[in-house]
Amino acid sequence: MNTPESVPAHDTVVPARYWHLLDDGRAQCDLCPRFCKLHEGQRGLCYVRGYEHGQMKLYSYGRSSGFCIDPIEKKPLNHFLPGTPVLSFGTAGCNLACKFCQNWDMSKSREMDTLQDRAMPEDLARVAEQTGCRSVAFTYNDPVIFLEYAVDTAKACHERGIKTVAVTAGYITEAAREEFFRHMDAANVDLKAFTERFYREVCGAQLQPVLDTLVYLKHHTRVWFELTTLLIPGQNDSDEEIDRMTQWVVRELGPDVPMHFTAFHPDWKMRDTPPTPPATLTRARQIALRNGVQFAYTGNVIDPEGASTWCPTCGALLIERLGYEIGHWGLDARGACAGCGTVIPGVFEPMPGQFGARRIPIRLARAPHSPDPAHSTGTS
Ligand code: SF4
Repeated sequence: MNTPESVPAHDTVVPARYWHLLDDGRAQCDLCPRFCKLHEGQRGLCYVRGYEHGQMKLYSYGRSSGFCIDPIEKKPLNHFLPGTPVLSFGTAGCNLACKFCQNWDMSKSREMDTLQDRAMPEDLARVAEQTGCRSVAFTYNDPVIFLEYAVDTAKACHERGIKTVAVTAGYITEAAREEFFRHMDAANVDLKAFTERFYREVCGAQLQPVLDTLVYLKHHTRVWFELTTLLIPGQNDSDEEIDRMTQWVVRELGPDVPMHFTAFHPDWKMRDTPPTPPATLTRARQIALRNGVQFAYTGNVIDPEGASTWCPTCGALLIERLGYEIGHWGLDARGACAGCGTVIPGVFEPMPGQFGARRIPIRLARAPHSPDPAHSTGTS
């Protein structure tokens, strides 16, 4: 049983899509591969979806754990409107249970009071436009679990010419992924490891559905996407695993999908694991390049070479990155290498944006009886 695509635009508890009734009276959520089976009054593992009064519901529509204007490189996306600002926001909950979660205060939250700001889709689109953001990112926690809110926000953004970005683990069912990604212009997908063991023991999930999502994105959509792997010492950082992962990416997705290898820092339930040595990221990048990945990056460390974009044909420096600042720009107006003419995959404009490394938290809180939250927007 599914509900129509539209939901009441004023409510924060709305009918959810992608579920059906089981013979035993429980409701099964069909949004992510967990397929939670819920009795009346129960919530799913993500906690923001639940079965109540005979209807699956989303409890976090229009509610956010915070908003921030970031450089798009922070998502990370290196081939999507470089140098431009993106309005980032998330809600609460998550459909994975990663022991190393770097955003656990939001994603593991079961307290709706984490959700401080209230913003309906049109509010978000308007504020993104007013603040000069070129895109809105669904990030901090996985937007799959708030699909109805993300899709409506994406529609409102597109009406104003604002692009949309999903930062996701790609843990979504075949039934739901078409609708979700149809409304996204770009995505950064976590490929957290390349073993079922890691996904099962460290994330409480499965690898194969993520691989299925990546193949779907590459071969059945026009979404620009890049991959991120957080390398955790002793867990997913062996030469053998990175070798198999990067060979799979080149074989199944092609050599032009950018890969980001980023540094872990001890957090959540993995505080005893040491941070990732920068040399590990460099080693992973070199394995990827050797296997034919054309754009391999290091992240969360100071590494100008690993952070920059290089022409896969002539080796010229195309986009120099110093942290989130863009330095040298070696692309022509078509997004091709100015030296040899090789077209670089991605979404590029003749010149990069100038947003730089700033991070600007904003509040969109709707004051009681205030009809227009845009007026209460400000920077802090
Ligand atoms: S989206 Fe939430 S409720 Fe639905 S199957 Fe996944 S974890 Fe369970």
